[in-house]
Amino acid sequence: MHPLRNEALESGEARLGTRFWIFPQPPFLPGYEQPDRVWLPILRDEIGAGPSDATMYVIDPLSEKQPYGFDRLPPFDGPRRAAPKPGPDRHFDNVSPSSREFLAVHAYACVHFVLDIWQSYLGRPVRWFFEQTFPRLEIVAFVNWDNAQAGYGFLELGCSDTDGVRRPYALNFDTIAHEVGHLILLSETGVPTIVSPEADFFPFSEAFSDAVSLISFLHFGSAIDRLLRRTRGNLLLYNELNRFAETSPETQVRLATNFRRMSEVTREVHDRALPFVGAIFDTIVELYHRELVARDCADSRLLDLDLRALSQRDFDAFRAATAEAFRVKPLIFELALAAARDTVGQALASSLRTLDPTTMRLDQAATAVIAAAPGAAAEVLEANFAWREIIGRR
Ligand SMILES: [Zn+2]
Repeated sequence: MHPLRNEALESGEARLGTRFWIFPQPPFLPGYEQPDRVWLPILRDEIGAGPSDATMYVIDPLSEKQPYGFDRLPPFDGPRRAAPKPGPDRHFDNVSPSSREFLAVHAYACVHFVLDIWQSYLGRPVRWFFEQTFPRLEIVAFVNWDNAQAGYGFLELGCSDTDGVRRPYALNFDTIAHEVGHLILLSETGVPTIVSPEADFFPFSEAFSDAVSLISFLHFGSAIDRLLRRTRGNLLLYNELNRFAETSPETQVRLATNFRRMSEVTREVHDRALPFVGAIFDTIVELYHRELVARDCADSRLLDLDLRALSQRDFDAFRAATAEAFRVKPLIFELALAAARDTVGQALASSLRTLDPTTMRLDQAATAVIAAAPGAAAEVLEANFAWREIIGRR
């Protein structure tokens, strides 16, 4: 008699996916010089040169390419650089991070990494909002342009220029994750048909995309580890978490750790997005504190105080207590942060399909996120959205 075959074991490594390198933060940031090796859950024979697959492909133009716009859409039809190929083992981690080819490979890996996280939260694959016209997303690895943008059928990456130092956005996970956020939102809600001055689709889109960047970053085990070790578990000291689309250590484009309320912002979309992003960040930190208190790693008074108005004495006391607990049981802190991250990510993702892109306002978006969250998290979200003056106090 033959023993039963276990196919899952038989095909071994081939089923695990494909290996890539990703820099969780741009490699010029101190402490982030080395990339992380990640396994993307796509089979090796499903990825071709480019890289490319059934849902997306990367190009790297050989000549100067104009950015896409209303009258200029993919596919790119000019000359392009040779498509990077995987190594003999058909993984892509053979491509050297210092090579030109790496821009394309890294951009592809980042888009997939983010998409996989949010598909898990959504519970289904993202179907591109442009799929009727373009079955696949075109990722442009490099355009000589100080910007990055996602639009109808494309995601293209320029480079920042700080005092003459050019840094490709293809190496910037935050930037790529933010742009993927825009694509996910449009694919879930659909495209707004008219732009009414009252509607908040665009500010919400910026806020959601920043949240996608933040939450996706927290999916690198190495990032959580580094963040917690550096702060000794104390997220009241803001640091890596608020580095969005950072182009140099001194320039912060978007801030999740802001204290802005709706009465303090203008109608400019990025400005108007700030209170929403702030409420999301504060909720993650507060849920993290709740987990710590529940697991006997922090003083329960942490939950009763207004952390935005903490005295230096209280701050120092919490810091000392947290640092001691962190020294003994760092793993609990990692679990607490991952749990807080996923609760908020899940609620955000689940809220999308209930929103009407043409008419939605920020208070409706906030209410939808609260409705999609489990009990205790819903309360925290509600309090934070209210403090930000996005919704009224009840
Ligand atoms: Zn944006």
